[in-house]
Amino acid sequence: MKAELITVGDELLIGQVVNTNAVFLSKALNKIGIEIIQITSISDTKEAIISTLEASKKRAEIGLITGGLGPTKDDITKHTLCAYFNDTLVQNNEILDHIEQLFAKYVNTPIIKENRQQALLPSKARIFKNDYGTASGMWFQQKEQLVISLPGVPFEMKALMNDKVLPALQSHFETPFIMHKTAITFGLGESAIAQRIATWENALPPSLKLAYLPNLGKVRLRLSGKGADNKQLHHEMQAAFDALLPQIEDIFVGFESETSLEEQILTLCTQQKKTLAIAESCTGGRIAARLTKIPGASAYFKGGIVSYQTEAKTSVLGVSPKLIDQYSVVSQEVAESMALNALNKFKSSVAVATTGNAGPTKGDSIAEIGTVWIAIATDEGLQSEQFVFGNHRERVVEKAVNKALELVFKEFNKN
Ligand code: ATP
Ligand code: MG
Repeated sequence: MKAELITVGDELLIGQVVNTNAVFLSKALNKIGIEIIQITSISDTKEAIISTLEASKKRAEIGLITGGLGPTKDDITKHTLCAYFNDTLVQNNEILDHIEQLFAKYVNTPIIKENRQQALLPSKARIFKNDYGTASGMWFQQKEQLVISLPGVPFEMKALMNDKVLPALQSHFETPFIMHKTAITFGLGESAIAQRIATWENALPPSLKLAYLPNLGKVRLRLSGKGADNKQLHHEMQAAFDALLPQIEDIFVGFESETSLEEQILTLCTQQKKTLAIAESCTGGRIAARLTKIPGASAYFKGGIVSYQTEAKTSVLGVSPKLIDQYSVVSQEVAESMALNALNKFKSSVAVATTGNAGPTKGDSIAEIGTVWIAIATDEGLQSEQFVFGNHRERVVEKAVNKALELVFKEFNKN
């Protein structure tokens, strides 16, 4: 099954908006066995939409369009699709009710004609109600061509896709679910592993396939599953790894994760009932921002102090001025003191601190540009490490954030 993604919007062509919709949609469709053969970005014009649909029909069974479904004049996707499929717009009362309710609940300005017109929808299309907005999803089918139109706003598009369009595609095409899970091993070569687990591999159900991915002393064992029943597939995957892990206990280091470091930290903290606090200097609040992006972070993340100026490190965080004078602001001693003071101020089980010099000038510190100290304080003690992250300001900060999260993860993963 082949699909083409068509992202509509002048903002994509002038580089104002990153085409994240295409990334999300490619992953989502791949997971249900639909192959993306082309991603096309076009402007908000009738001509561009029609000519792309014409061309797309020849290369793919599915055309998935995002964008241009808003209530304003520049949003023309709906009208263009309606014309393309020789359809007419009719009022959908269920959608009209939904739009009126959305306005009554969440919008301060009165509803206008243009908003109500969002309930005018093509008579022959299958309509998917958008729970988070006024632009509905639409499914047009004509002979061999299926065209699905979704709003451009990423969170609206994602919700429609996950809740409605993916299940509809799966039942329409009876496409299989696809799933991958990868175990990372260390210290044993590919063929030695293969020999050891041969019996297990031979007994795998037909829905699962094993791949060996060797790389620099590491061998990754990836199981790929394909099946019509998602639950069943999960179950088979789980059972296969349950049987495998005891056989590779001595070389297994963990699963390659699709979840972010911060999500894993949240899981570990919740399991262990631990809490975290942060004192940031060169990372400027970005560690806190990463952590609080994850829903549920308040369960363990107590808070952070961004003590950017040297003076704030002493007045707010309570680092001794003498320490700063003696060792300089980017030093092991100051990083450790920041972590310890954050631990005490927030009464958390773990605290992490960063102090560094991201450049391009040296500021208050004498440390070389790119030098970052990261310290971790716990009830049991202090540890710290120095890193040199290069001379590109943005990268230094980004690397410091990632490293700090990695150290926090390792700290919680110790137990
Ligand atoms: P609206 O009702 O908000 O007008 P719409 O369906 O008309 O929705 P667009 O006007 O095309 O959608 O886009 C709305 C916003 O969604 C854009 O300003 C942009 O920020 C975002 N957006 C649109 N297309 C994409 C895309 N391909 N990737 C990421 N973001 C996008
Ligand atoms: Mg719009």
